[in-house]
Amino acid sequence: MRGLMMNTPLLISSIAEHAARFHGDREIVSVTADNPRHRCTFRDAIGRSKKLANALAGHGLQQGDRIATIAWNDYRHLEIYFGVSGAGYVCHTINPRLFPEQLVFIINHAEDRWVFVDVMMVPLLEKILPQISAVEGFVIMTDEAGMPETSLPNVHCYETLIGAETEVYEWPALDERSASALCYTSGTTGDPKGVLYDHRSTVLHAFAGVAPDVMGLSSRDCVLPVVPLFHVNAWGIPYSTLMVGSKIVFPGPKMGDGEALCELMESEGVTIALGVPTVWLALLQYCAQAGRLLTGLKRTLIGGAAVPRSMIQEFEDVHDVEVRQGWGMTEMSPLGTCNTVKAGMESLPRDEALDLATKAGRGIFGCELRIVDDKGEVLPWDGVAYGALQVRGPWICSDYFKLDGSAGSHTDDGWFDTGDVATIDPHGYMAITDRTKDVIKSGGEWISSIELENTAMGHPAVAEAAVIGVAHPKWTERPLLIVVRAEGQDVGKDEMLKFFDGKVATWWIPTDVQFVDELPHTATGKIKKIELRRQFADYSFPE
Ligand code: ADP
Repeated sequence: MRGLMMNTPLLISSIAEHAARFHGDREIVSVTADNPRHRCTFRDAIGRSKKLANALAGHGLQQGDRIATIAWNDYRHLEIYFGVSGAGYVCHTINPRLFPEQLVFIINHAEDRWVFVDVMMVPLLEKILPQISAVEGFVIMTDEAGMPETSLPNVHCYETLIGAETEVYEWPALDERSASALCYTSGTTGDPKGVLYDHRSTVLHAFAGVAPDVMGLSSRDCVLPVVPLFHVNAWGIPYSTLMVGSKIVFPGPKMGDGEALCELMESEGVTIALGVPTVWLALLQYCAQAGRLLTGLKRTLIGGAAVPRSMIQEFEDVHDVEVRQGWGMTEMSPLGTCNTVKAGMESLPRDEALDLATKAGRGIFGCELRIVDDKGEVLPWDGVAYGALQVRGPWICSDYFKLDGSAGSHTDDGWFDTGDVATIDPHGYMAITDRTKDVIKSGGEWISSIELENTAMGHPAVAEAAVIGVAHPKWTERPLLIVVRAEGQDVGKDEMLKFFDGKVATWWIPTDVQFVDELPHTATGKIKKIELRRQFADYSFPE
């Protein structure tokens, strides 16, 4: 017998309508190239996204067409999110930090018809213009006064384009499974792969994201997404904040600027900030140097890479800010786990609480987890057994865009293979030990590079650390620690290695240490292990 509930589609446009009606006065504050502190309301932004939808309809675009953005986090980018997806087109967000050849590949593979671009990123597109000739129109995200001289053809000024339209617009009644957004993985191995989100997956993911043990967002919160709108929909923030009415503060091009972030947090009353560990390194460093405290901030959601124990300690002990670690990936919209304490664990001894906080967290309802061994056998949740981490759920990709199953990313029984290696403890806390391709195998046993990096980061003279496996005549592979010293600090190899004593198994302790001025990072701010391995290709351990 079927139930008797309404079959209302889960649509992104319904989030926009809800936001305008219930939280219309809520503020969106943005740093943009043309304004250091732009202010508007949800009502303004949704009205303008409707104008945009009207403008696009007049240009011969069809539902399902891909419309790209190459832009920082600000209110115009948010308007495009809703105007494009709400009207039935696919909002393809592009990471401006990708290499030119990756940009060309992505734009052509997605068959983007239009591209919305920040003034600052116009030169990027001008350089690759001959290779992206299929793009029919470019919209520069500024007003007439801010329009640059450009060689881009068919150029529109954003404000002029939408300025000519009305706010009267009826969102189409789409099928909830219609594609809404497209985001490519950074392609650390091979070509980038496109992940195609739909309206249903996006709305369900936003519901999950606002839950108390995930982001815990409410209409009383003020959110600073330092995670970019061009990467996995900024972890769903555009949807979840509008769903519940949290004020949004967009840092624009100031994402890596510790002082600017601190300033924004203080003056706008930010309660929750989200980003990858690298951004918080910059912020914490600035605060320490300038002697500033993050007073209003209640918590940070940190993910995208393992969160060092020392970072959790500094946020909590110095700034009294709760750290919630999250784990996920582009293919997962991205939320998979989030780390908060369970009932009964509130008063764990400090050390145990920190051990727990360094884990990736518990599975969020809607994202099933399992770990399997080399033969595909499901492993126990004992906190010891480690294996390939697989996931399943309504906001996890069933395939990549236009790859028709050729990526080999899914198991026969319908799980997505994340490429991560993990343990899961009896309470359901998952810990990533490595990416499959970064695993170090010494004498037939696995060593977790993440745990070694985390330990090294605990040394006060270490600004950043990475561990890679290097060929070894006796052990096949041994860990090599690569360290960036903190400014004005000195630490040598012996002291560094001694620091591991008693913190990890003796045979895990790196065989050597190399000191460098900086580590290579990916476009999303993660340490680029591939590049590191290339840099140390000629390295061999001392006799
Ligand atoms: P890309 O795959 O393009 O680098 P993603 O954001 O999709 O970008 O990266 C997802 C990967 O990032 C995960 O598979 C995992 O390896 C890593 N990651 C994300 N969060 C964490 C975390 N909390 N701890 C360890 N690794 C993480």
